[in-house]
Amino acid sequence: MVKSYFAKSLEEALEIRGRESVIPYAGGTDLMIEADDQASYLFLNKVPELKEIKADAEYIRIGAASTYAEILQSQLIPQILKDAVIEIAAPAIRNLGTAGGNICNGSAKGDSVLIFFAADAKLRLVTSKGERILPIKDFYLGRKKLALQKDELLVEILLKKTGLDHYYYKKIGARNALAISRVSFAGLLDMKDGKIINCATAFGAVSDVVIRRPDIDEMLAGKTTDEAKTVKDAYLEAFDEAIVPIRGRVSAEYRKSVCMNLLRDFLESNGI
Ligand SMILES: Cc1cc2nc3c(=O)[nH]c(=O)nc-3n(C[C@H](O)[C@H](O)[C@H](O)COP(=O)(O)OP(=O)(O)OC[C@H]3O[C@@H](n4cnc5c(N)ncnc54)[C@H](O)[C@@H]3O)c2cc1C
Repeated sequence: MVKSYFAKSLEEALEIRGRESVIPYAGGTDLMIEADDQASYLFLNKVPELKEIKADAEYIRIGAASTYAEILQSQLIPQILKDAVIEIAAPAIRNLGTAGGNICNGSAKGDSVLIFFAADAKLRLVTSKGERILPIKDFYLGRKKLALQKDELLVEILLKKTGLDHYYYKKIGARNALAISRVSFAGLLDMKDGKIINCATAFGAVSDVVIRRPDIDEMLAGKTTDEAKTVKDAYLEAFDEAIVPIRGRVSAEYRKSVCMNLLRDFLESNGI
């Protein structure tokens, strides 16, 4: 029988999720587009534990049902995520839509998802029996395919506290505002004592899953910007091979050339 469940605590939500076949419902801004009148829904937006944004020694911990509006208001949230969130839809959607919903929708076009990939965020996935922490890269198995068990909820997104300040972010949409990404790019470059200690790039809306290739970004690690210039061509070539866009409303060729231009611009903006 079709039912709606309104959980008031995480414990209650997990108990229902483990017992019934339910679709988690956070803001509903993705679900409303594919409403299923045969499905049972588990409403999460009144679960306080899912709406906390807090920090510990290592991580900023974002409750999965935190809305974009709440994320924008929090002083703990790094600017790179706020830059992406402010570009999402209009205030009405930002008041309902959540970071957890963006991730669990499983689309490579998710604007907050891109930042979580670039930042190598981790996900805390919980059942009534236990929990596991999974890097976001391992959570995405393909288009709309996630490593989410049927009794599990995404409870928190863990963002490391350091290395997020020096960033580059661009969203290319069909219009300047209120547009779903056609290509998006985020790059982080962290330097210490004149050397690159971390370079992380992510390409959104290009393929079935956000493209994040730490093995290629690693080519720049440990180098000064001058040393990085000597491997720049090889680095760009490696991404040129790695980025295989799917055709959508815009051509694969367009997507590819935008990706490479953004990557070059990211490097140049960092003197490479
Ligand atoms: C007009 C409009 C404009 C939009 N513009 C943008 C845009 O510019 N950029 C963008 O990225 N998105 C955009 N979206 C998509 C949408 O708003 C976002 O993806 C949003 O983050 C979804 O969050 P939600 O809480 O509404 O998810 P929901 O619709 O509630 O859920 C989405 C999916 O996640 C699952 N889920 C939700 N929470 C959990 C959880 N805690 N654990 C496990 N599974 C969970 C649900 O079961 C469902 O499968 C737009 C949508 C609309 C309607």
